[in-house]
Amino acid sequence: MAIIVQKYGGTSVGSIERIRHVAARVSECYRQGHDVAVVVSAMSGQTDRLLNLARELTPSPDPRELDVMVSTGEQVSVALLAMALKELGTPARSLLAYQVPIRTDDAFTKARILAIDDKSIRAVFQAREVAVVAGFQGITEGNDITTLGRGGSDTSAVALAAVLKADRCEIYTDVDGVYTCDPNICARARRLAKISYDEMLEMASLGAKVLQTRSVEFAKKYDVPVLVKSTFTDEGGTVVAREDEDMEREIVSGITYEKNEAKITLLAVPDRPGVAAEIFTPLALKNINVDMIIQNVSVDGKSADLSFTVTKNDYAQAMELIKAAAAKLNAKDIIGDTSIAKLSIVGVGMRSHAGVAARMFKALSAVGINIMMISTSEIKVSVVIEEKYLELAVRALHTAFDLDAPARQAE
Ligand code: ADP
Ligand code: ASP
Ligand code: MG
Repeated sequence: MAIIVQKYGGTSVGSIERIRHVAARVSECYRQGHDVAVVVSAMSGQTDRLLNLARELTPSPDPRELDVMVSTGEQVSVALLAMALKELGTPARSLLAYQVPIRTDDAFTKARILAIDDKSIRAVFQAREVAVVAGFQGITEGNDITTLGRGGSDTSAVALAAVLKADRCEIYTDVDGVYTCDPNICARARRLAKISYDEMLEMASLGAKVLQTRSVEFAKKYDVPVLVKSTFTDEGGTVVAREDEDMEREIVSGITYEKNEAKITLLAVPDRPGVAAEIFTPLALKNINVDMIIQNVSVDGKSADLSFTVTKNDYAQAMELIKAAAAKLNAKDIIGDTSIAKLSIVGVGMRSHAGVAARMFKALSAVGINIMMISTSEIKVSVVIEEKYLELAVRALHTAFDLDAPARQAE
């Protein structure tokens, strides 16, 4: 008998019929004698629908109230799944975050889990019931409702698995594993049987939304083996675990993209100490994350151009702050660009191979794509390009790094 945490995403619980299907899967696991905690997301489209309601009311909804509202999506799905389980004769109990409780900090809309009390869930197991836990939500010390950021149910599940010392954490979704790139935009994408925490961490943080980045951080920190599988088929699956001998030794394991960034360029700011701090401090004070930054020193050596990227959500506010900073610094102009995309290649094999970035740039130039920004780390290279070329670029890199699945035989 094992302790198993299963997580079902929005598409997996997108209709009553699908909820019945999930209930059947969960029941099967329960009948094998395991203690089962199931974490569920809101039914697909619900979180977006709720967020749109708030945006209809005001362009800048109060984050505390936003969390009170947006967390209700998960309240509906845990109740429905618990009912469906009972219909099948499987005893079950739904638990919202405050009932567990799942404690978080008070960073509304992007809260971090601080602690999870396992007593209530263990009591549910003790009664031989399935615990159906609402994903995405948390509760602060002061009893305010929080949410964990988009895709946060993955993090709820892995954190719960860590606390319960679960034998495994299964993430059920609408694809049958982690692929070399998003299978929905790259037809030749190949499923990876196994991927290391470090690679998955990079892929998630660079846009592969199949797992929320923080869920992989938790998995790595607490050594939780994560299995990504399809809700709709028993085939496939990807194990996310510590790097080991069985893992594929490709130089590049995956290609990811992020469309949710925008670029801001300041032309001719003075080239003297303290200028970068003057530009970026106001952004930091407003909790705006800056991703890539490049600075070119101009020929006269007195002024420089500076470009950086922020998420599209932060773009309008960042532009306002930058306008004020640019006026103080007498910058020549500010240029904003929201039609960009960030494209990255990820692989632990890069640590030991030279020329990976050059191969990437060559593949992009061969299809006529211009690179606007570049950044690298030990196991990734990212570039910013025009958004309209994204799919072409993904396919070109997929082929250039020998990732393509063999072409299917004509039937
Ligand atoms: P869920 O609602 O189950 O949490 P998500 O939509 O959050 O599902 O994540 C699954 C989606 O992640 C897939 O439908 C796929 O389009 C996308 N995705 C992006 N990159 C990858 C990748 N490398 N491998 C698999 N899926 C990916
Ligand atoms: N329902 C939330 C979202 O859509 C959390 C999740 O699906 O993981 O982002
Ligand atoms: Mg998700």
